[in-house]
Amino acid sequence: MDVFAHGLWSVAVAKGASNRTQKPLSLKLALAFGVAPDLASFGILFVQRLLEAGTFRPGFLKDGHPDPALVPAYVHSLYNITHSLVTFSVVFLIVWALRRKPLWEMLAWLLHILCDLPTHSTRFFPTPWLWPFPHPFLDGWPWARWGFQIPNYLLLGLTLWLAFRRPGPGSRAPRTPPPSPAPGPGLPSSTGPRTAGSPGGS
Ligand SMILES: [Zn+2]
Repeated sequence: MDVFAHGLWSVAVAKGASNRTQKPLSLKLALAFGVAPDLASFGILFVQRLLEAGTFRPGFLKDGHPDPALVPAYVHSLYNITHSLVTFSVVFLIVWALRRKPLWEMLAWLLHILCDLPTHSTRFFPTPWLWPFPHPFLDGWPWARWGFQIPNYLLLGLTLWLAFRRPGPGSRAPRTPPPSPAPGPGLPSSTGPRTAGSPGGS
């Protein structure tokens, strides 16, 4: 899947999960983890191309088609690391242990790998989902086809609309306190025990 769709899906799923669980999640962090696997591999290549050739045009096209043999070896290595469920699990558990609680936004990284599995064919960067262990590659449907892109972005737009049409747990309007009766001139100032008010956050 392309990096923009990865980022938007991460935000949509994080917002939906945040609404459902009433736990505020950082959408920026989810977005960062959602695009990181591609930016930390192909993103570096695009920056290198920009610095060396002054263009974002990928240098791995041959007759208009991507040729993995033209991609530098370091991109293959980084792609293996960032697109492996093994790497993800190890890093997720380390972060969990260090923070003593999971960083749920990291699941956008897992979502990235799961989305790439069926959308990369074996001809160009199939997902190395069990790297560094030997595993079969899934021969998916290339994401660059319009037959995938159009329904994907339509579904993405619908999901984003559903997720953002209601405010999340962190953006609820503050509760207005009930009006307190003003003591009259002949009434005592205290009319009984008061209950503790809610601070407003939940
Ligand atoms: Zn990817």
